[in-house]
Amino acid sequence: MSTYKIALLPGDGIGPEITSEAVKMLKAVEDVFGPLNFEFETMTASAKLFLDTGVTMPDSEYETCTKADAMLMGAIGLPHARRPDGTEVAGDAIFRLRFGMDLYAGVRPVRLLPNVRSPLHDTSKGIDYVVVRENVEGLYASRDGGSVLRNEVATDTIVITREGTSKVVDYAFRLAQKRKGRPLDGKSVVTCVDKSNVLTSYAFFRSVFNDVAREYPDIEPDYAYVDAMTAYQVQSPQNYDVLVAENMFGDIISDLSSATVGGLGLAPSADVGEKHGLFQPAHGSAPTIAGKGIANPVAMILSAAMMLDWLADQRGDDDARRAAAAVTEAVEQALNQGKELTPDLGGKGTTSGFGDAAVAALRTLG
Ligand code: ATP
Repeated sequence: MSTYKIALLPGDGIGPEITSEAVKMLKAVEDVFGPLNFEFETMTASAKLFLDTGVTMPDSEYETCTKADAMLMGAIGLPHARRPDGTEVAGDAIFRLRFGMDLYAGVRPVRLLPNVRSPLHDTSKGIDYVVVRENVEGLYASRDGGSVLRNEVATDTIVITREGTSKVVDYAFRLAQKRKGRPLDGKSVVTCVDKSNVLTSYAFFRSVFNDVAREYPDIEPDYAYVDAMTAYQVQSPQNYDVLVAENMFGDIISDLSSATVGGLGLAPSADVGEKHGLFQPAHGSAPTIAGKGIANPVAMILSAAMMLDWLADQRGDDDARRAAAAVTEAVEQALNQGKELTPDLGGKGTTSGFGDAAVAALRTLG
């Protein structure tokens, strides 16, 4: 029996609604893939908790997260829960987890799923790439210490280190080795996305990228300036396999990429380091649709599948590997059936209706 302790962070807005669907799926995984067992411990960390108590994530919950085998998060944040300088309190939890546990790679797969319409008019050549975002340095590292507001002038400091850049670029190349290449021609490529033509920090990021790339002669290094990259993501997504970028650039290009494959409700993500992993949809708490039972749970359930895959790597657990593939397949089958699609996908289905359809599909795959 493989038992995994999962710290569950449902969070705010639609977070709790979609988290229940992921838990429902993981309970079905326990039934279907017998030796797997999940022990959930539910955290209260949220922007709502901040509004009630002044604390977004209690220290005791952070400790629990550090001891868990993995963390599964819905979404933390509410637009009106802000610090005096106007920034959202969500970061108090999310950045604390990322920075505190060195979750240095933000992994966002971008794949056009079955029966989902892309806003791009021609997707016949396929969309299947992964954005790897440096997660603990870059411009966002300024948030707790590097930001200055004085005499009506605000500055933020970008942090790029050789060690941090090497780690995330190495992750991107290792990921490319495991994948089957870009849709265009199956070639394995890692694209460095930066602004090295303008800022020294990004030129340094690129030079470290080149140093790491030399260790992977089987994979083609490729380069794009971030502004041009946004156009390529729309015009020729089939050319890409793995992208690696500084923290803020990775944040922006991954939201754009999710829009090209049907929207935020379909975009899973993982924040991983050597020892810890946090899995959550790429979207936020979407308060405008919270409580209506219409949030799309696909990104959340696919994030749980990414968690299973990561646990499989951590423990060499073949059952977790098979379960990850089966959960992904089950979601694809439910999308293909099309009966329970949520309104963002043009359907009239509900969050739990889609979750049930995906669970039913999983039970046929055991
Ligand atoms: P954050 O700043 O926390 O990333 P955000 O303000 O960018 O959040 P989201 O909460 O991600 O915004 O949501 C933006 C919009 O995308 C929502 O108002 C909603 O219309 C849509 N959306 C996001 N997630 C989902 C989902 N799971 N299902 C359906 N629609 C979604």
